[in-house]
Amino acid sequence: MSTHLFESIIVGPIHSRRLGTSLGINLLPQRGKVCSFDCIYCECGWNKEHKTDKKLPTEKDVKEQLTKRAQELVKEGVKVDSITFSGNGEPTIHPEFPKIIDTVLKIRNEHLPSAKISVLSNSSMLWKEGVREALMKIDNPILKIDSTIEKVLRCINRPNQRYSLEETIESLKKFNGNFILQTMFLKGSAEDPLTGEIVALDCTEKEHVEGWKNLVRELKPRQIMMYTLDRDTPLQGLKKVTIEEMKEIAQPLLAEGFKITVNGEPV
Ligand code: SF4
Repeated sequence: MSTHLFESIIVGPIHSRRLGTSLGINLLPQRGKVCSFDCIYCECGWNKEHKTDKKLPTEKDVKEQLTKRAQELVKEGVKVDSITFSGNGEPTIHPEFPKIIDTVLKIRNEHLPSAKISVLSNSSMLWKEGVREALMKIDNPILKIDSTIEKVLRCINRPNQRYSLEETIESLKKFNGNFILQTMFLKGSAEDPLTGEIVALDCTEKEHVEGWKNLVRELKPRQIMMYTLDRDTPLQGLKKVTIEEMKEIAQPLLAEGFKITVNGEPV
């Protein structure tokens, strides 16, 4: 498979269907991937494929490079809609994450005041108060929960550090709905990393959908991003869920007033 890695700390801006003109920040290694999950659909490939380069940028590196790029963009007259933390893995595992958020907020306010700050996170570090507080300071905390069924989540996301679905949901409740929930919908089969059993996965199946809808009702996120596979996946044989299927899943929640996008488009 081809992998899609960021090769610098500051990337773009690129056009993002979900966020508009997006200037990326990669807090992970520049030629490798480090993540607390090892999702079967990860565009960066499997964690084990990237062992060579584990050096993380420092807060000082981010400050210098973002300031320089922001000044260039202002000079060129480029409007940035979002300064987006994503990159080669999970940004919140960076030990200086809260400090970096404060630095990026200052740079945004000084150079790109109309840009939102967005963080794409797998939610696995929300048990840390410092990470939660940092995410509460930004405009768009985009937080992932792919399933409310432990076994399915284990097969899809393959957490490799401390992770509890229950604890993550409790942490999400502390946002009082002021976050964006992101959820991947796919079909296929994968090995359960705990038991070795091959598990059939179908995110359109009743138990999965009902559990997810009930989670939405409980957490009341201000927006929900439903999406499906876009690029090659490290696990072969996975299938997309269609836009129509996702819209059908979204219908009852839309009727209840939730704001939902499917693959970046409002429904
Ligand atoms: S959480 Fe994101 S970066 Fe980490 S393995 Fe999953 S898709 Fe890849």
